[in-house]
Amino acid sequence: MQQLLFTLALLSFLALDTEAGDWCYQSQFSCDHQCNTPNKWDHANSDCDGRYQSPINVVTRKTLLDERLTPFKFTNYQQIFRGFIKNNGHSVQVGVPHLSTISGGGLSTTYKAVQFHLHWGNSKGPGSEHTIDGEQYPMELHIVHMKHHYTDLSTALADQEGVAVLGFFYEKSNSANRKYDPIITSLRSIKAANGNTSLPPVSLAQLLPPEQNLTSFYRYKGSLTTPGCTEAVVWTLFENTIPLSSDQLRAFFDLKFHDGKPMVDTFRPVQPLNGRQVFRSGATVALTSTALLVAALASALGLSQLN
Ligand SMILES: [Zn+2]
Repeated sequence: MQQLLFTLALLSFLALDTEAGDWCYQSQFSCDHQCNTPNKWDHANSDCDGRYQSPINVVTRKTLLDERLTPFKFTNYQQIFRGFIKNNGHSVQVGVPHLSTISGGGLSTTYKAVQFHLHWGNSKGPGSEHTIDGEQYPMELHIVHMKHHYTDLSTALADQEGVAVLGFFYEKSNSANRKYDPIITSLRSIKAANGNTSLPPVSLAQLLPPEQNLTSFYRYKGSLTTPGCTEAVVWTLFENTIPLSSDQLRAFFDLKFHDGKPMVDTFRPVQPLNGRQVFRSGATVALTSTALLVAALASALGLSQLN
């Protein structure tokens, strides 16, 4: 009986310790605020303990060249839209009109954009979720898409390839990236969790590197990087980075979590590959080397006057 009471007491203590379904990043954990940090996300959702989780570290020498990873076709990415930007307590998220779509890029069908959000670090350290050969970038953009025939994300997540996320890395630049002004300026109005404001007109294209620089990317199958961690995501990570100045990056650190603490280090640590293969597109590198080869051959043959 005593043992039973002890067990019950222990169980109730554990229940108080962390609320089921609740989750947080490591930076939110303190003695006063004990929450489910990434290594306990499986308490929030058992899928977070799955075998095909994201993010991962990409070891480039172990990637496999896949000729099917042709350039993407971006449709309506140039379209200017008036969206809302929200501090959802975990990140900054912008809803996107579903008319922007992607196809090609080795995808089996057309996917439509749903939302985008970001993951970042702190004033002293980087904060991308994926890493390339162990390198973590200052910030990472996720543009979330679902197969075109679905109308909501929860239905798409029931399909193993229902969701396609495009991931872009940021790199610190000396000058400000003016194309990001609408986003950066809006952050001031949404510092508190659940803060919401209308975004000045933007297009998805203006937030990304030029389309011709998007032919080099990595592909693997993984999951959402926040609970429920659903394994329904076709991941694309682009090699070309987006420049942002330190001041622009710093603007994100002024946002606040639900508990009022600075919203920093909003990334999940990398997860085991568990035998998954990461593929790479070959377009840019192959094209460049072919062009160089042709030029070298032409000059060797004394054909340069033909140009
Ligand atoms: Zn994300």
